[in-house]
Amino acid sequence: MSTQFSSFQPPIRTLMGPGPSDVHPRILEATSRSTIGHLDPEFIRMMDEVKVMLQQAFLTNNALTMPISAPGSAGMEACFVNLVEAGDKVIVCRNGVFGERMRHNVERCGATAIMVDDEWGNPVDPTKVEDALKAHPDTKIVAFVHAETSTGALSDAKTLCALAQQYNCLSIVDAVTSFAGCELRVDDWGIDAIYSGSQKCLSCLPGISPVSFSEKATEVIANRKTPVQSWFLDMSLIMGYWGSSNNAGKKRSYHHTAPVNSLYALHESLVMLHEEGLENTWKRHHDTHLLLRAGLEELGFEYIGQNGARLNQLNAVKVPEGVDEAAMRSALLNEYNLEIGGGLGALAGKVVRIGLMGHSARKENVALCLAALKDVIK
Ligand SMILES: *Cc1c(COP(=O)(O)O)cnc(C)c1O
Repeated sequence: MSTQFSSFQPPIRTLMGPGPSDVHPRILEATSRSTIGHLDPEFIRMMDEVKVMLQQAFLTNNALTMPISAPGSAGMEACFVNLVEAGDKVIVCRNGVFGERMRHNVERCGATAIMVDDEWGNPVDPTKVEDALKAHPDTKIVAFVHAETSTGALSDAKTLCALAQQYNCLSIVDAVTSFAGCELRVDDWGIDAIYSGSQKCLSCLPGISPVSFSEKATEVIANRKTPVQSWFLDMSLIMGYWGSSNNAGKKRSYHHTAPVNSLYALHESLVMLHEEGLENTWKRHHDTHLLLRAGLEELGFEYIGQNGARLNQLNAVKVPEGVDEAAMRSALLNEYNLEIGGGLGALAGKVVRIGLMGHSARKENVALCLAALKDVIK
């Protein structure tokens, strides 16, 4: 390695993998504005707007809605460490990589994870969840991944949350890839705790995790027997800085130094979402998916998973016979500056994952991706 250092100039890529997605130039520009104090009244005014725009994007009135200053995995951990206590039982649905991470979170809280397994590529089966609820009537929480980025499967969040409610359980929903990419209704579907990420369908910088907790979940947090084992992710402490929407304008106290410029970026991405309209955004993801799918199938790429339960924003397809998956992806990167994702776990080497997330979900990206694929597999 050289001992002379100079500025890092990243190559200009088109990001069509499982995240991060292409960051819109407007969002990049927002991050370069001057840094102000994280308790500056102007910054607090912006924070209040971020909270309101997050409530609108989650379709919720939850007062406890805010961005966690860390990536989606921290949002996941925030939901588990605040709601789960030692000795609790949590039903964890596992149909890909992220369900398995949920299990680790539950077990590290000293609780028991009851696993409901579905084949990778398939959505979570509500019948199996109901059987588990019947077999374990003392279950406190049902946790599942709405959009499994590792396989491209979309689960029926509405039905799963209704089941949790029917059996007096809370629900924890991973919406890292679904948020702003497909239909998601926190209040209508009765979701109790939800987390997302900034770098997927919001097309924002990586490193921020929007979360929201229902009133019922907030009460559970307030009535814990033991303190949350994570100081940083303890929502009762974070609230002192972010406030809740019913104490907007009240004095905020220092908890941690917020990533000021990353929050400018989040604010800008939410303004853009607001300008386009949530339902129009969902539709754009669907339309670009249909376009990509037609082209991929023509090139001989076959989708994994079940018809009707596939994501628009993450397309997991089998690599055609005789094509070297790793070589194909390096050719795309080296010759076209185009990034797509490889398979994870059992799917490594067998599938590729093509993301159409946020600003990446555009017709011109679909055209580039199909033309580049056609060239490198010939
Ligand atoms: C990306 C992702 C995460 C993790 O988010 P990070 O920002 O990488 O920590 C969690 N769940 C799902 C479904 C994801 O796609």
